Amino acid sequence: SQTPALADLQAQATAAPEHHDAFWMPFTANRQFKKSPRLLASAEGMYYRSTDGREILDGTAGLWCVNAGHGHPHIVQAIQKQAATLDYAPTFQMGHPLPFVLAERLAKLAPDPLKHVFYTNSGSESVDTALKIALAYHRVRGEGQRTRLIGREKGYHGVGFGGISVGGMVNNRKFFGPMLPGVDHLPHTLDIARNGFSRGLPAHGAELANELERLVALHDASTIAAVIIEPVSGSAGVVLPPEGYLRRIREICDKHGILLIFDEVITGFGRVGEAFAAQRFGVVPDLITTAKGLSNGAVPMGAVFATSAIHDAFMHGPEGAIELFHGYTYSGHPLACAAALATLDVYEGEGLFQRAIELGPYWEQAIHALKDLPNVVDIRNFGLVGAVELAARPEGAGLRGYEVFNRAFFEQNLMVRCTGDVIALSPPLILNKEHIDRIFDRLAATIRATA
Ligand code: PLP
Repeated sequence: SQTPALADLQAQATAAPEHHDAFWMPFTANRQFKKSPRLLASAEGMYYRSTDGREILDGTAGLWCVNAGHGHPHIVQAIQKQAATLDYAPTFQMGHPLPFVLAERLAKLAPDPLKHVFYTNSGSESVDTALKIALAYHRVRGEGQRTRLIGREKGYHGVGFGGISVGGMVNNRKFFGPMLPGVDHLPHTLDIARNGFSRGLPAHGAELANELERLVALHDASTIAAVIIEPVSGSAGVVLPPEGYLRRIREICDKHGILLIFDEVITGFGRVGEAFAAQRFGVVPDLITTAKGLSNGAVPMGAVFATSAIHDAFMHGPEGAIELFHGYTYSGHPLACAAALATLDVYEGEGLFQRAIELGPYWEQAIHALKDLPNVVDIRNFGLVGAVELAARPEGAGLRGYEVFNRAFFEQNLMVRCTGDVIALSPPLILNKEHIDRIFDRLAATIRATA
């Protein structure tokens, strides 16, 4: 139920294009969008409602974040109650109970020995925080010459300077100058992931991890602080790790004293069938970055998980000295903590982390049934993640992907993502088989209509 004021604002934004000019939209073709805006007014469960009153099936959990579905009453009430009780409290040299309680619960979910939690407000901030912790960790242990960071081609680690430096997406980098010095990149695994409609993880390609040995030989291990990797990436078009690839990266890091960071901003909180991809793949990193599903997207929040070895390395020196000169005004924000605690209740109470395992085979069948549609050149899936790759139009890359995304929204009431010509799917984990059928029926109809 909307307040009249909110309904008024929505009507204004829908009706009057002049109201669209002031908002400089992120990662959006602003001029194109504003001619025919896709505007969402409310949401419940698996559905958004658009400002023109249509029910839009959410195939992407917002931006990979609303894992417990929209407007869950338990989460809504927790935020409302918290806003009325303690709206804000600093966590610099001060505290309030919720971030402590939440960290204990998060530590229980994370793989051993990642039992310490540093709060941020987004995935980008989690990435910058993890990179800084890695650098500072080596320094406090007397290895301050380990300053080099290694990411991957096609990696997406948010939009902070740290994240775009270790990231490997050209458009996110080329406008912004030289970025962090001393960064290198491993090759991507997309060409292996993109492998003739294969299901689940690619069976071959783990040898690409050996490229890390080549970088160690080039730079010397003693200069390298950390490697950062998305176990499954979304933004580069859903890239799945070859079987054994992450294990091999872990082995090489161990051999050379290099920290391994998993960027689990999209895989954290159940997307691939366990709390974290680290658990699903049986590979434990030294740091994990998270955001999104942590608070179900309801209040911005991120968190970095660190091993006890990393955390404890900072806990020396005089007791009155600040151990890490880093943090955000909103680290451990009361509303975010309340949202996250309630979100964890829902994940646990409704068994949502297991959904990707239970529904995985059905999801796989359903997405691969699109194989023979026009212009479909590859299909990839793992857990409740899916990608349908389309042939690029001769006029340019990304045009077909965008058209499918746009027409799905307006003609089929379906929300998908497009990254280039890849249609990416990552539904709320509350979905059932009927929703899966509906997602793929609607996507198939859109792909046919676009042919
Ligand atoms: N890291 C990964 C792997 C992501 O997929 C994203 C966002 O999609 C980010 C970091 C950045 O998160 P945010 O947009 O919350 O800063």
